[in-house]
Amino acid sequence: MEKNLIDVCLGRIKADLVVKCKSMLNVFSGEILDDISIAVKGDKIAYVGKNAETMMGTGTEVLKISDGTAVPGLIDAHTHMDMLCTPTEQAKHMLIHGTTTIFAEPDELTSVMGFEGFKTFVKETEKLPLKVYVTIPLAVPQDPKLSSVKPLPISAYKEALTWSNIIGLGETVAWTLMLDKDSHYIEKFKLAIEKGKLIEGHTAGARNAKLAACVCAGISSCHEAINPEQALERLRLGIFLMIREGSVRRDLTAILPDLVQRGIDLSNAALVSDWVDPLDLKELGYMDYIIDKAVEYGLDPVKAIQMVTINPARHFRMDQLIGSIAPGRYADITVLKSLNRPK
Ligand SMILES: [Zn+2]
Repeated sequence: MEKNLIDVCLGRIKADLVVKCKSMLNVFSGEILDDISIAVKGDKIAYVGKNAETMMGTGTEVLKISDGTAVPGLIDAHTHMDMLCTPTEQAKHMLIHGTTTIFAEPDELTSVMGFEGFKTFVKETEKLPLKVYVTIPLAVPQDPKLSSVKPLPISAYKEALTWSNIIGLGETVAWTLMLDKDSHYIEKFKLAIEKGKLIEGHTAGARNAKLAACVCAGISSCHEAINPEQALERLRLGIFLMIREGSVRRDLTAILPDLVQRGIDLSNAALVSDWVDPLDLKELGYMDYIIDKAVEYGLDPVKAIQMVTINPARHFRMDQLIGSIAPGRYADITVLKSLNRPK
């Protein structure tokens, strides 16, 4: 229960900040609403609506947004930020481009430094103004029989799965080994499922019965679809579809126009980067660039924004805290100059 937020709504105490927006996107209804005030106490939103006057006092800061549309802070549902430059440096540029939350997996640091590398990443990202939720790598190594990289011990998974910012297990690259019930995977899957944590997928090439078996094993998402058929098959099986547009691969152009033309429901889908090269981040942008591309390929801008806000928040079971501008959520607000060309 958020006692302070209740008291702000009822005018018993004053808001720290009121943001007055000329235009705001409600990601639940898909409406663009005019003249909305957002009352904030601490780091959370108490009230969103037209009647914030009673919540304002002499100590309340007022911020007017008269140009552009306020949308929830953007979310990258699958990325890596431990390559080529530090998480701290990348976070600065991610925030500048309107992204306030990422779900990241430190495969590189963990490969090189083991559990100490993983802990170093978590410690550094905990201090950032960017919210970073972390998955524990399963792809370190992808196949223990073919690599000299040592897998993390099961004790590391047991320990890390108790930390509040650990969302679950990372991408299951060697899904064929997992289907063969290889001990490298099975024990960790059991542990994550027992603790109610998610297992992220990487089911490149899996289809039909094998893809269904991956879902039965507990895999909840996939960012490896590279054509509309693969994307649709994943959507139909209830897999959270992550369409990738980053520096590793750019799949939007192959997938999105076809899905849009067929009128496919994309509420169980997100747009993700799966890693952005620091130069691309600086020169092209980040999730704002990806929304821009999605709109260029025919997606309705509101739907594109839902795919980088409320949709991933629901997938990660965190929609009570992130992914919308609504009471009780973190006051993560991004202003886009134009919804049609957000970049
Ligand atoms: Zn990845």
